[in-house]
Amino acid sequence: MKMQVPLSSPDIIEKDIDAVVAVLKTRFLSIGPKIEEFEKKICDYVGVKNAVAVNSGTSALHLIIKGLGIQEGDKVLTTPFSFIASSNCILFEKAEPLFVDIDEQTLNLDPVKIEERLKSLKAEELKKVKALLAVDVFGQPADWDRVEEIARKYNLLLIEDSAESLGSEYKGRKCGTFGEAGVFAFYPNKQITTAEGGVLVTDNEELAVAARSMRSQGRGISGEWLDHDRLGYNFRMDELAAALGCSQLERIDEILEKRAKVAERYNKRLGEIKEVQIPYISQNTNKMSWFVYVIRLAKGIDRDKVMKYLNQEGVQCKPYFTPIHLQPFYVDMFGYQRGDFPVTEDISSRTIALPFFNNLTEEQMDYVVEKLAEAITLKGEALA
Ligand SMILES: *Cc1c(COP(=O)(O)O)cnc(C)c1O
Repeated sequence: MKMQVPLSSPDIIEKDIDAVVAVLKTRFLSIGPKIEEFEKKICDYVGVKNAVAVNSGTSALHLIIKGLGIQEGDKVLTTPFSFIASSNCILFEKAEPLFVDIDEQTLNLDPVKIEERLKSLKAEELKKVKALLAVDVFGQPADWDRVEEIARKYNLLLIEDSAESLGSEYKGRKCGTFGEAGVFAFYPNKQITTAEGGVLVTDNEELAVAARSMRSQGRGISGEWLDHDRLGYNFRMDELAAALGCSQLERIDEILEKRAKVAERYNKRLGEIKEVQIPYISQNTNKMSWFVYVIRLAKGIDRDKVMKYLNQEGVQCKPYFTPIHLQPFYVDMFGYQRGDFPVTEDISSRTIALPFFNNLTEEQMDYVVEKLAEAITLKGEALA
């Protein structure tokens, strides 16, 4: 029997719906009490002093780049294996991403390669490198001890794109707390959702004040509607989104547990297929908050054909991630070529994100595994 299994699916319960509807019955649809409540809840959960809620994770990243004064002529070390926003935020301010290849196991930035890259730069170039932006890919924390050490040694501002790692911990420290600032994102496929939405988290008071101002037209602390201290945007999170965020965050522990159970079952079932490599979790990751479930196929298997077969059979899947440096406009702007970041390119050609969400049933998972096994054993014509 053919099943339809979506790649992701939000987990909205009656309590979430009630929370949103309650806001609709008040005067405050934006700039009200819910955004403050959500920010406070995020601060408490993550263990940071400041949270600035905005309309997307991308906006939060943009405010960090701008708030830290990164500008035209500056370079920022980062990864080509990520969702494109972690690199685009650098371009928004006309600075340039300086890509470094990833670790083959964790899929995060490889600290050895970061240092090699820095050492290879001439003094003049090195002076332009202002920051290091590391991503906790698929929810797994970057190797923060070593990344922090490099940032200190080379006097770089450190930024964490923790959009995928709400609740993950590295050696007992929560993601979002590394470097100057971190972000979380709440698009419907993330661990918790506000529909669209994001938040910037930081212990840097000055950055928090600047971000708060910039998200709302550059208004000063007084918040007066027509007083503007600086160039700002409208990046505000509305009250409906904030209310949904509060309600979702109240069950974060339960949500992460559900996701871990799904991952565990996948691990067990897929571990039996020798052509499939299940996600690697580092010993440094003492708590894993699963964002997506991404497998790697053995070399020599035609990943795209496997995906096509899965999609035909109703199993939605995606090639997470496509290398950022090979996106056409990055090639046009910077002249990147295939071969520039070989680990990223090899991994990108072999990974598949399988259906993954809180309420994925055992029956659905078993169907996914069965169809994947079929796709791998079918050869040539059968798979065309
Ligand atoms: C989801 C995500 C973002 C952006 O979040 P949006 O809310 O979609 O703008 C940024 N970086 C990474 C790594 C992400 O996964």
